[in-house]
Amino acid sequence: MKNDEHVNLEQFMAGVERRNPHETEFIQAVREVSEDIFEFIQDKKKYHEYQILRRIAEPDRVISFRVCWEDDNHNIRVQRGYRVQNNNSIGPYKGGIRFHPSVSQSILKFLAFEQTFKNSLTGLPMGGGKGGADFNPKGKSEHEVMRFCQSFMTELYRHVGDDTDVPAGDIGVGAREIGFMFGQYKRITNKFTGVLTGKGLAFGGSLVRTEATGYGAVYFLQEMLAHRGDEINGKTAVISGAGNVATHAAEKIVQLGGKVLTLSDSTGFIHDPVGIDQEKIEWVKEHKGVRRGNLAEYATEHKGATWHAAEKPWSVPCDMALPCATQNEMNGAEAALLVSNGCMAVSEGANMPVDLDGVHVFKDAGICYAPGKAANAGGVAVSGLEMSQNSARLSWSEEQLQQQLKDIMKGIHSRCVEYGSLDNGKVDYVKGANIAGFVKVADAMIAYGVV
Ligand code: NDP
Repeated sequence: MKNDEHVNLEQFMAGVERRNPHETEFIQAVREVSEDIFEFIQDKKKYHEYQILRRIAEPDRVISFRVCWEDDNHNIRVQRGYRVQNNNSIGPYKGGIRFHPSVSQSILKFLAFEQTFKNSLTGLPMGGGKGGADFNPKGKSEHEVMRFCQSFMTELYRHVGDDTDVPAGDIGVGAREIGFMFGQYKRITNKFTGVLTGKGLAFGGSLVRTEATGYGAVYFLQEMLAHRGDEINGKTAVISGAGNVATHAAEKIVQLGGKVLTLSDSTGFIHDPVGIDQEKIEWVKEHKGVRRGNLAEYATEHKGATWHAAEKPWSVPCDMALPCATQNEMNGAEAALLVSNGCMAVSEGANMPVDLDGVHVFKDAGICYAPGKAANAGGVAVSGLEMSQNSARLSWSEEQLQQQLKDIMKGIHSRCVEYGSLDNGKVDYVKGANIAGFVKVADAMIAYGVV
């Protein structure tokens, strides 16, 4: 077996860039992980001999397909659907489906790559995958969304299965879309199995799945602060996004005694200096999530709040920041502004919301900084528990699941501390998450030989 010990990080990345031209998000995600892994494997010959990093950075397969559907005006529309199956060394592929006009092969490859490490970190037996389509559910009627979901599943069904690949929701895919896709899968295959997670409670869904990602990101924040002898109570938080992850993160911050100052969407952000309390969070859930309205109306409905069109919330001074909208929503300058305004902890509810410059700003400042693959793993963890419940044909109680979510987030925090502790007593959570996620997958790959 040829040994590539002499390849350095830049040579490795040059190869990744050559093999994945123009896939900027994927290259960014591989670089972020490789910076830590290269250092870790320096003196570990087996990982070099088996070319583990190179193999993890090459998806097992990328499936792309045409999705035709008919809109309400009888126009035939054509979208592109994908499923990226990155790695199934420790369990069936698992990861969400995203419907958004920005969806591309690069974005889904980055998400499937990240998912591989995230799922490993949860301690549950799940591999990494991700899928989606460049379909924009915004402004579409319910029947248009249904026809699209059915058409999407009519191709996807042959690539997924409860022991093969178990998708879930993501941006633009919530309980409604999962219901339409599950209905079509069941109709085509005549099987009622746990092929999707995030299902409705009436047909195999799990309690706590909806809240799990946002709550989990706050539990992780709580663990980071506790590790430094601090707590959320009495602190201010700036949150981006107004979807599933953002609203549930806000809810848990409020429950733990923090004050939420902002929420945002793709058109701007709201700043509410007296705090976005539970009642106001319910208003956002109903207005954005159910009625699919405009977040700007929050400022007219709630006295003292202001709307900042086409701006991001990172200029608002705070103790804690939770980016919960989308990838690369914060750059190095915005990260530096947060730190100079006194922010002492960042927990990523979204996937890769902070770009590489921003990551280095937080690492250099030595603040508590949790990357998405650790902080937002609560969602996929409860999806893993939904899979277990489906296999056993059981439903666990809310209390049991809330406790399991807390325990899993605690476990992820401990694994990050194990591999990310620094000589100065602080923890590099990026390094800790990357290495802890890598080791389990890598050791399984070595056990399988060259496959
Ligand atoms: P939702 O679709 O529920 O909400 C997404 C939110 O982000 C909306 O407020 C949306 O605004 C905003 N947004 C989307 N794109 C942009 C953009 N380009 N610029 C600014 N704001 C934007 O998605 P989720 O809350 O489920 O997901 C949010 C993030 O969390 C994603 O990165 C996702 O991958 C990640 N995540 C989600 C998990 C889950 O369980 N749902 C699990 C783990 C990670 P608008 O309404 O205007 O489009």
